[in-house]
Formats: sequence, C-alpha cells, structure tokens
Amino acid sequence: MPDPSESLLKPNERVLSTLNADGTRRWLKPRLSHGKFLTARRAVAYALILIFTLIPHLRMNGKPMVLLDIIKREFTIFGKTFLPTDTLLLSLLLLIVFLSIFLITAMLGRVWCGWACPQMVYLEFVYRPLERLFEGAPGSRKKKSHMGLRKVLRFVTYFLVSAFIAHTFLAYFVGTDNLRQWIFSSPHEHPIAFLVMAATTGLMMFDFGFFREQVCVVVCPYARMQSALLDRDSMIITYDYNRGEPRGKAKRPKKKLEPGEALALPVVELGDCIDCTMCVQTCPTGIDIREGLQLECIGCAQCIDACDSVMSKIGRPLGLIRYSSQRAIEDGESKLIRPRVIVYPLILTVLITAFTIVLLNKSDAEFLLLRERGLPFQTMSSGEIMNQMRVRITNRTDTDAVYSVEIIDQPALILEVGQNPVPVPAGEQVSERVLIKADPSYFDVSPKTITIRVSDGEEFSKDKPFIIHGPRNRASAPTEQPKETPSDG
Ligand code: SF4
Ligand code: SF4
Repeated sequence: MPDPSESLLKPNERVLSTLNADGTRRWLKPRLSHGKFLTARRAVAYALILIFTLIPHLRMNGKPMVLLDIIKREFTIFGKTFLPTDTLLLSLLLLIVFLSIFLITAMLGRVWCGWACPQMVYLEFVYRPLERLFEGAPGSRKKKSHMGLRKVLRFVTYFLVSAFIAHTFLAYFVGTDNLRQWIFSSPHEHPIAFLVMAATTGLMMFDFGFFREQVCVVVCPYARMQSALLDRDSMIITYDYNRGEPRGKAKRPKKKLEPGEALALPVVELGDCIDCTMCVQTCPTGIDIREGLQLECIGCAQCIDACDSVMSKIGRPLGLIRYSSQRAIEDGESKLIRPRVIVYPLILTVLITAFTIVLLNKSDAEFLLLRERGLPFQTMSSGEIMNQMRVRITNRTDTDAVYSVEIIDQPALILEVGQNPVPVPAGEQVSERVLIKADPSYFDVSPKTITIRVSDGEEFSKDKPFIIHGPRNRASAPTEQPKETPSDG
C-alpha cells in the first residue's frame, strides 16, 4: 500500500526555478547565446564596471566626485557636498530616483535588471565567464581534466575579484586616500574598516559563488513590484505564441539551406517554435519564456539571441522571442500614450524643478544655535543674567572663511563669543561657546525671543531667532554649572 505521507510531502512541480521539486537547489549553468543583444549588453556592462571603478578616484571642484562619508555625515555627489540638514534636497532626490524607476519600468519593463543592475553585471560578465574559463562552458562535450584544481583556481580568482570590488565599494565611503593608507598599514590600525572590507568580500563570495540568481528570484524587492509597475503596454521580452504555437520538432533539412530558403516543416500545421529548448537552456534564472511573463524574468534578452540563432538556422523570420508588449502580442497593436506615462513625467518635472530651485538657492554656509544643557539661565555675582549656548557654523564653500556673530537690535544685551569672528576652514564645521548677558531689568517678560545674525561680510548673512530666559517675578535665580544640549533656535 502506498505511504500517504509520501504524496503529501512531494509537490507535483517546482515551485521556484532555482529549486527542484524535492526542495533541493537546482544549480543553473546557462548556455551562453551569442547575438546582437549579448554584444550590446557586454559593452554596456564593461563600461559600467569601468565607471564604478573609476568614480572614487575622480575629483570635481577639488573634492571627490562621490564620497558618502557616513562618520562625518557628509555626502559629496558630483563635487557638491550635502549635509544631513539638507533634508529637503535629499528627500526630493530620493523621490526623483523612485519616480524615474517607476517611469522607466512602465515604459521599458525590467531594462534596469537586464542591462545595468550590478548583481546581473558582475554575475553574468565577470563571475560566470571566470567559471566558464576554468571549468568549461555548460554543455561542452569535452571533459576537462583536473576538475578539482580548476575549481580551486576559480575560487581563488573569485576571492581576488571580490576583494577588489570590496575595496572599490569601501572607497565610496572612506575616500581613496584613506583606503590607500589602510591597504599599506596593519589591520590593527583600522580594525573596523578591515572588518567591513572582509565582510563585504565574504558577502560577494557568498552571493556570486553560491547564492547567484536567487537574489533576483527570491530576494530583490524590485521584482516583487513588477505587477504594480508594469501594464499591458510596457515593453517586455515576450514569446510570440501566435507565431510559435503549436510547437513541435521540425524535420532536419537533408541538404544545406540556401539563404532565404525555408525548412520544410512536418505536414501537421506547426508553429515556428521547434521546441529545441535553447531559450530555456540559456536563461540565467532557469525559466521558460514561452510560459508568459514571469516574476523571475530579468529581461536579459539571452532567449532572444538563442531563438534568433535557431530561427536563422531553420530559415524562419527572426523575432519569435522579442522586445514587445503583452497587448501587441495579443491584439497586434500597442499604446504608447497612456495615463501613467503622462502622469509620471509631469510629477517628475515638478520634482526636478523644485530640486533645482532649492539647490540653486542653497547658501554657502549654515549655522545652528544650540542651547547649553542645564538650567535655562544663571545669575552672576555681579547680578547680571547669563544665557549660554553654542553656535555651530558650517562653511560649504571651497575656501576658508570667517563669520561674525551678532545680536540684532538689542543694545541692552552683551554678546561674548569664544572667538568672534569665527574662522571656519573650507568644507568644515566649527562650534563656539556664546554667552548672552543682560541686566535683570531687561526681563520685563520671560522668555524673550532675540535674533542672532551670522555673516561673512560678503554674500552670506542669515538671521535666526533664539529664546533667552530671565528671572521675571523671581527673587533669585539658580546658579548651577550647565552642560551642552541642542535646543531651540
Ligand atoms: S529557442 Fe525558439 S524555437 Fe527553440 S524552443 Fe525556444 S522559442 Fe522555440
Ligand atoms: S526569460 Fe529570457 S529575458 Fe527573461 S531572464 Fe530568461 S533569458 Fe533572460
């Protein structure tokens, strides 16, 4: 009698293209299909790798072209430095990036995944070619000798490439000068950076050596958003089932076909698909495009190159698998203009305009007024009332500058700054202690709002309100020593 638990535990079919029906890993070794799309993607991929590698070494306006300094909380992009206080600019930039992704996906489907995503670029154009170099192309009949040694060599090369990519990645966050210094010194002198680099190298080895296409199939959130981002008119890679079905094996030609001569198909009326499965064997995510649009399809166009090569061999028109839209395949026509390709660009125009205006009006300096921690004011032995704070000035320009700090229209107040004017080197931040003193009679009401101005005597001048406290209706005032804390102003 059959064991009922057996049928319960065994699924009828694969639930994921990277898993077998019994749940074990299905290792994919896609065949490489040469063609115009592979040539174009290869050129794009190597250009992107070159750009990614060079960017940390390039400089603009005397600064790194891109430096994401998380420790200092400064983000330099195209030679312009953004601070965490640039919340509006950073939020607008994020919105622009997200909306651009929505628009590109609505129009061109997963063109990002198939042509520019770093996961695909490095896997398909660096790691898989290395695998083929050491262990031979999938499907090759020639048995390679010393397979164990070849595998070891492959993983040693993987390690070197991963370490190189990890160093390049780290350069985006610490700069090339720091990185060069760390490379030539002991890890004891920079343990955290060393651990980050080692962890990144390990992660790359795991990803490109083991996890591979599963990132696209089960991890990447972008793939999961496809059903919401695509519509029936989005350009995708699709199989023309009207032309291809019913599929079936064609008879082999007895003689070599002349150019333009068609292969005689069996008497049964068959479509152009000869069911050779070349499109499936070449797919890096292991799916069959003939089953329709699937979440796992990364739009790499390898199935187009594979099928075009088959079609040209059997003398049939190319493009049985091609860039098209669901509507074009089903109804024979596609709509270019539809609501989402009008609304997205309109919102994008507004966002880009707002971003440009904010960027152009961004001042050359910033300052913050920070109340000292502790009691709001002190009464001095002379009877004067004292408020304490700090002024933190950021010089965003490329030259050193000095900034004067003053109180506007309050002659009764005495302002004492550690150093006034405050010298601030280019691109740096300086914090100075500030004391504001007043006679107790000044506080007819308390608290009072005053205006602090910081200016460089030339283009930069900005006023900010600050609240000071005094002993209104009090006989005496507290005298505890305060500590620093951010506060109003
Ligand atoms: S490569 Fe073309 S002909 Fe071969 S199975 Fe795929 S769709 Fe059919
Ligand atoms: S179905 Fe075609 S385009 Fe999609 S991932 Fe597979 S080979 Fe690439």
